[in-house]
Amino acid sequence: MSTSTIVHIAGIPFGGEDFTTIAGPCAVESYEMALATALAVQAAGARVLRAGAFKPRTSPHSFQGLGFDGVEILREVKTATGMPVVTELTDVRHLDDLLDIADAVQVGARNMQNYALLTELGRIDAPVVLKRGLAATVDELLLAAEYILCGGNQKVILCERGIRTYETAYRFTLDLAAVAVLRERTHLPVIVDPSHAAGRRELVLPLSLAAVAAGADGLIVEVHPAPSAARCDGEQALETREFEGYLRQVRSVARVVGRRAPDPVRLLPALEEAA
Ligand code: PEP
Ligand code: MN
Repeated sequence: MSTSTIVHIAGIPFGGEDFTTIAGPCAVESYEMALATALAVQAAGARVLRAGAFKPRTSPHSFQGLGFDGVEILREVKTATGMPVVTELTDVRHLDDLLDIADAVQVGARNMQNYALLTELGRIDAPVVLKRGLAATVDELLLAAEYILCGGNQKVILCERGIRTYETAYRFTLDLAAVAVLRERTHLPVIVDPSHAAGRRELVLPLSLAAVAAGADGLIVEVHPAPSAARCDGEQALETREFEGYLRQVRSVARVVGRRAPDPVRLLPALEEAA
């Protein structure tokens, strides 16, 4: 079965003919950086902002996110830009507070098999971006999605973000065959996260172009105004100033494979100067 369900995040479509990009920093670090990133990715044509307030980190000594302070920053950035926000839920106790500002909830790879969390997400009305676990099969991903669907929430977007293999030349192995297989096996939209798979920014463009060609309905990409100073995942973040060129190339491949990927609406040059 090819994609037949279109899931909307605050009116922005995922699936069908559209090719849609979510972009933003790995983590909210401050109001200024979150706003700068949001404005840059929005101008370049990303339609949804990603940013984590709660970060699931491998080491307990790593930056864990700003928590509820980060949620408040996301609220302000959303008001300032009008961009819909997707942010990660790491603890079911945070759900109501996140839903107060989030337009979609991300389930991270490490929580793909957190069945209590998935069950709760089946009861809500907001869309869920469900990332494939680091060592999960396609069947396990689909069954994880079933937990949400069976609860009554049909708004699930699947995300391939790379799996662990013996290869160490990059962070994870982006499994683009899974995208093609998911297109056969489910009606749900499928997006690709090239950033976590790549682990370094040089690989993000080629993986993104390949994902588009493999049939992905969209991308979720990490972007930062100053990646070398990032508190989380800086090596894989595209710089805000290179993002526009990156997304232009992504859109041109999307059009070649028959997707609708319009250029962002630009202000008239005179208005841009005044802005
Ligand atoms: C993230 O999106 O920043 C993240 C932690 O992703 P994943 O769960 O895929 O590792
Ligand atoms: Mn990250």
